Amino acid sequence: MPKRVIVIGSGIIGASAAWHLAKGGADVTVLEAGETGGLATRNSWAWINASWGNPEPYFRLRQHAIAEWHRLAAEIPALAVNWCGGLIWDLPEAELAAYAEQRRAWGHPIRRLTRAEILQREPNLRDVPEHAFLAEEEGVLEPLATSQALLAAATALGAEVLSGAPVKWLEGEGRVTGVMTNDGVIHADETLVTAGVHTEALLASAGITLKLTAPAGLLAHSKPAPKLLNGLVMTPGLHIRQTAEGRIVAGTDFAGADPEGDAEALAASLQHKVEAMVTGAEGLGLDFLTAGHRPTPADGFPAIGRPRGRAGLYTIVTHSGVTLAAALGRFAAEELLTGRRDALLDPYHPDRPALS
Ligand SMILES: Cc1cc2nc3c(=O)[nH]c(=O)nc-3n(C[C@H](O)[C@H](O)[C@H](O)COP(=O)(O)OP(=O)(O)OC[C@H]3O[C@@H](n4cnc5c(N)ncnc54)[C@H](O)[C@@H]3O)c2cc1C
Repeated sequence: MPKRVIVIGSGIIGASAAWHLAKGGADVTVLEAGETGGLATRNSWAWINASWGNPEPYFRLRQHAIAEWHRLAAEIPALAVNWCGGLIWDLPEAELAAYAEQRRAWGHPIRRLTRAEILQREPNLRDVPEHAFLAEEEGVLEPLATSQALLAAATALGAEVLSGAPVKWLEGEGRVTGVMTNDGVIHADETLVTAGVHTEALLASAGITLKLTAPAGLLAHSKPAPKLLNGLVMTPGLHIRQTAEGRIVAGTDFAGADPEGDAEALAASLQHKVEAMVTGAEGLGLDFLTAGHRPTPADGFPAIGRPRGRAGLYTIVTHSGVTLAAALGRFAAEELLTGRRDALLDPYHPDRPALS
């Protein structure tokens, strides 16, 4: 008998897990409270990276996650990851040099570009420094389209995906035996909670504490333009990329701008910065802004595993979920279906003290 698995939430994490579980032979049902595709996911800047500021184990996980996107994109042709590379000069000179040195020491050097090389790569940029670094292995995807493509691929393997199907609480004393929905209880051998910022409340319904924060991030989306940018560009106070449909998406950093205060004014000021930075973007104008919340375990690192060792229950909650989804979805499916836990996950068990 195939294992019956409920996946709560259809963002990029739940969608990846659902596909990997279905591929592994599980009988999968995805329950999504709203529209399919996720909340944080649809508002994400969607940079796939192993960039600065990460301790080595987390860097290694992220680096592995990049490789997992290549594997997944080869398995599901509808997934379009753009391996455009990331051009970066958003740190003070000395910190940028230290970051490059650290990457070299970890065996993943990044390439130093001169001003001329930056302009060769991004000829429409103004205000370019004497040098920057290029992380060639970085990429970007369209997050909502990606989670929907993963769900479609899971459906093709027999998974059921239900939208407008909120889970009210987890069922079962001790072992989690399923979930309560508006239509009653659905039983399962395993329940996987990938509900983004709502994960904390769902786990609390089973008496489990997992502390999350949910920092907000605003992005400004320009009107569509012909191709002006070739890749991701991270400058101090302005991170930009151009989407497949031609919009330039901007935040003060990859996590978006802090939307406290006047969101419209903030988006307009980001759009001004874009127009000042990119030749050809003058007068383009802001089309819309998005503001999302990043599901972030209290210590800032992913939480993945069986909380409190509870049989029938598993969770994945993380920021940088776009970067990590291909890897975490596979790791979760493997652990649920075979019991094998990848060593890269060692630091990220949900029971670590910082989250209790
Ligand atoms: C502004 C911004 C910029 C970002 N930039 C990047 C970036 O550049 N690179 C990167 O890697 N990451 C980035 N992130 C983070 C990344 O987008 C998230 O980590 C990722 O999308 C999380 O995916 P998820 O599937 O866990 O959550 P979500 O996409 O939020 O999906 C969770 C789903 O669960 C559903 N749900 C919740 N409760 C229930 C319930 N009770 N019953 C049923 N369904 C439920 C929700 O409706 C939702 O659809 C960014 C995020 C933001 C907001």
